[in-house]
Amino acid sequence: MNKTVLITGSSRGIGKETAIYLAKNGFNIVLHCNKNTDKAKETEEIIKQEGRIVRILQFDVTNREQCREILTKDIEKYGAYYGVVVNAGITADNPFPAMEDAEWDNVINTNLGGFYNTLRPVILSMIQQRNGRIVALSSVSGLTGNRGQVNYSASKAGIIGAVKALAREVAKRNITVNCIAPGLIESDMTSEIPVDKIKEIIPMKRAGTAKEVASAINYLFSDDASYITGQVISVNGGLYL
Ligand code: NDP
Repeated sequence: MNKTVLITGSSRGIGKETAIYLAKNGFNIVLHCNKNTDKAKETEEIIKQEGRIVRILQFDVTNREQCREILTKDIEKYGAYYGVVVNAGITADNPFPAMEDAEWDNVINTNLGGFYNTLRPVILSMIQQRNGRIVALSSVSGLTGNRGQVNYSASKAGIIGAVKALAREVAKRNITVNCIAPGLIESDMTSEIPVDKIKEIIPMKRAGTAKEVASAINYLFSDDASYITGQVISVNGGLYL
């Protein structure tokens, strides 16, 4: 296989596990990081050991010009991506009456703005290939809403709308576009959440692992998933049924 997948936010957490999982299944990988270049380099070493071709891009997904410049150069040099996993994301929780402008702006600009800033520079080259896969990370919070996360829920619900619209636009070019909506997953993002208390409300009584999310993403990249598009697949231990 000579298919290359860009995974944003693959220095850590779900993105890192997804990069490793896809590499194990034969994809070449474009890793991406913002601040944690060292961690991306560690992931790069793991992927090299899988015998795959791998490189790292570093940019801030909120910086539209930087995204456009770096991604355009990358595909000019190496060719179009087969797939993109729009994974980079942040939280900045606060009850809405206390929410600060920066908390709203940063979360919307990273999670939803990042969807546009990452995909817009690469989509035409994918369309020209008439073959491809896009997976974006939404969240249970985007499906149900969550207290203290008006900003995050808005960004993750926005991603679902964007995915459904884009899926319709590119379906005839043989490109599928889907969402994964994780529940509570162990990662740096959730390291300050009291998992022991919260797991009582999860039917499976535990947090999920990044690998369990990565395996669902991997499925959407498999030949078996070739007719699935515009969908939201939850990976949440039954948290929202
Ligand atoms: P982590 O906090 O572990 O990792 C976040 C990743 O996003 C890092 O690689 C980070 O890069 C990157 N990132 C953050 N901000 C930017 C930015 N401005 N520009 C570029 N890259 C950026 O998160 P998770 O692995 O837990 O989450 C991954 C995705 O899954 C997110 O979209 C999240 O919303 C979603 N999700 C996670 C859940 C969970 O329980 N963990 C639940 C539901 C959804 P770097 O380290 O280099 O700065």
